[in-house]
Amino acid sequence: MAGKPSILIVEDEADIRELVRYHLDQEGYAVNEADSGEKALERAAATRPALIILDLMLPGTDGLEVCRRLRTDDTLREVPVIMLTAKGTEVDRILGLELGADDYITKPFSPRELVARVRAVLRRASGASAAPSQETFSRGRLQVNFDTYEAAVDGKAVTLSLREFELLKFFVQHPHRVYDRLQLLDLVWGQDVHVEPRTVDVHVRRLRKVIERDDSTPELLLTVRGVGYKFNPDALEP
Ligand code: CA
Repeated sequence: MAGKPSILIVEDEADIRELVRYHLDQEGYAVNEADSGEKALERAAATRPALIILDLMLPGTDGLEVCRRLRTDDTLREVPVIMLTAKGTEVDRILGLELGADDYITKPFSPRELVARVRAVLRRASGASAAPSQETFSRGRLQVNFDTYEAAVDGKAVTLSLREFELLKFFVQHPHRVYDRLQLLDLVWGQDVHVEPRTVDVHVRRLRKVIERDDSTPELLLTVRGVGYKFNPDALEP
């Protein structure tokens, strides 16, 4: 799905469909339309949209049923849905969220607000797929299990203190980015702990002894001179 994210608008009222299409076009999205629930499901299967804007009140298969079917379809269950609901239909709104809509917007709505919601939902969805909340990290020589606090290097379990483990966890979850000592203290130690920035260096040195092939020439936990440290997972593979 390179290029513009595609969005499917499902709405039987042509005026609203046109309005929404116009504003999403302006934002550079690729827009598809459907004017009934049946067509929505066909279109969704054919075009695999990045997001669906789904009106609740549709003739025939209504929005709730469309949402329910999307959520039970293996290829479409992950597609975010923003529901359009009529004013005052609280029950429908709750039902929509229970059936797996990601957000809802009440008619009449401002197109600008809709566009903002679309952006927010897409951002959330891409964040979720770029950084899945995984319980393990496994690459090349290094395995880290965030649930059990166990780590292994070259297939052998290694012993780490709690803080060393947390520092390692932080680095493997934030590869390639440089963090200075104060940031690492904030993010790994927490702001309420009063420790010297040098503590970070000490922990990095200990971690290197455990995970580097040769800790005198680190390849994984790199020093960025004058700035801080960064994790280079590429060196985990031969
Ligand atoms: Ca409608």
